[in-house]
Amino acid sequence: MTTKFDLIVVGGGILGTFHAYHALKKNLKVALLERNSVPQGATVRNFGQVVPSGMDIKWQNFGKESLKIYDELHAQADLTIRKNGSVYIASNDEELQLIEELYEMNKNNDYKSILLSKNDCIQKYDGLRSDYCKGGLFFPNEISVDSAEMIVKLHSLLQEKSGLKIFYNTTVSETYENDNGCIAIASDGTEFNASKIIICGGHEFKTLYPTVFNESDLEVSKLQMLQTKPQGIYSLPGNILTGLSIRRYEAFEECPSFHPIKASEEKNSFEKKFGIHILFKQALDGSIILGDSHEYADAKNADDLGYDLNMEIDEFMINEAKKIIDLPTYEIQRRWFGIYSQCKTQDIFEHMPSPNIHIITGIGGKGMTGSGGFSKFNIDKIYA
Ligand SMILES: Cc1cc2nc3c(=O)[nH]c(=O)nc-3n(C[C@H](O)[C@H](O)[C@H](O)COP(=O)(O)OP(=O)(O)OC[C@H]3O[C@@H](n4cnc5c(N)ncnc54)[C@H](O)[C@@H]3O)c2cc1C
Repeated sequence: MTTKFDLIVVGGGILGTFHAYHALKKNLKVALLERNSVPQGATVRNFGQVVPSGMDIKWQNFGKESLKIYDELHAQADLTIRKNGSVYIASNDEELQLIEELYEMNKNNDYKSILLSKNDCIQKYDGLRSDYCKGGLFFPNEISVDSAEMIVKLHSLLQEKSGLKIFYNTTVSETYENDNGCIAIASDGTEFNASKIIICGGHEFKTLYPTVFNESDLEVSKLQMLQTKPQGIYSLPGNILTGLSIRRYEAFEECPSFHPIKASEEKNSFEKKFGIHILFKQALDGSIILGDSHEYADAKNADDLGYDLNMEIDEFMINEAKKIIDLPTYEIQRRWFGIYSQCKTQDIFEHMPSPNIHIITGIGGKGMTGSGGFSKFNIDKIYA
């Protein structure tokens, strides 16, 4: 006899896991099918910055909900969550103007932020260069996580405390629906049955529904990341975002000065070509994670992004980072890239191949921040 679940979630990244979490909270019997022995997608390759401050109003609200959910989970287990806030460091008058405007907007949206003077920033962030920093905007309620460790711990917590059934090393090669319900077939032939299936496969477009993805407006983005060696007793608390992030993040697009400032930027700069902005986050071992860059390809041409790292991008990021923070060491211990999917015209990709099978992906660069809140909303909608 095969077990029949209420819900099968395909994909054990952050988006699939939070869909499973919210379904479990409705007392549903949930199975999570993940093709690798532990998740290996965008969820384990990212910064782990949970930064609602960087999102437009809709996703900031999902992000704020996520902060509550991370809090609720943190009370149950050590999920590597640290509440040290996020700061945006402005490097010139234009960026100062933007953070001041964002501060006013957040006040109206009831989201706490604090303007910091240059001196405040330099005192708070050891090594921050005084010839770079002109001031900052601090969000005290934001958190960081060590994503790769966090997702594994979250899976264990949900297995132990909420009865989630996880099947690792299980690649789903087909899903369909008939009069008896939904069926997911794994590549070894095992059949899983449920009333509904939610597919959160990240940027994996080749196995399930390739035509749907190829004909969609989904694209993939490849991001290069670096990690220094451990920095000894040096401490850099929270999420550090800098001038190029101020010039890039969706939240700032709503500021009155954003478009005039963007219009005056150099169009052919190296940072524009490779979508580079500089962020820092200290990992649990004391090392600093640095990034990132963005190269894009349509879903059907995802392989064009290649499998290698562009050393010119890495060198550029290290040189820019050195202009911002004097770290004890810039010796690099690890380099990698991650890929996420996003839509060109919508904030998330949703498609139903049949009434009870839902494909949900394309959360873009906001998955660690928005998935908790968005999945709650989406599970409520699906089970309304
Ligand atoms: C370098 C980098 C830095 C980032 N930094 C941040 C950040 O600081 N803050 C933030 O909010 N967001 C950040 N993001 C974005 C965030 O990581 C993504 O939005 C998020 O991880 C996407 O989650 P996902 O579950 O949709 O995809 P994934 O994490 O890719 O998960 C999809 C899962 O589905 C599984 N799967 C696919 N197909 C099948 C199948 N057929 N059968 C079984 N399993 C399958 C895969 O193995 C995978 O585990 C970053 C992304 C990158 C790449």
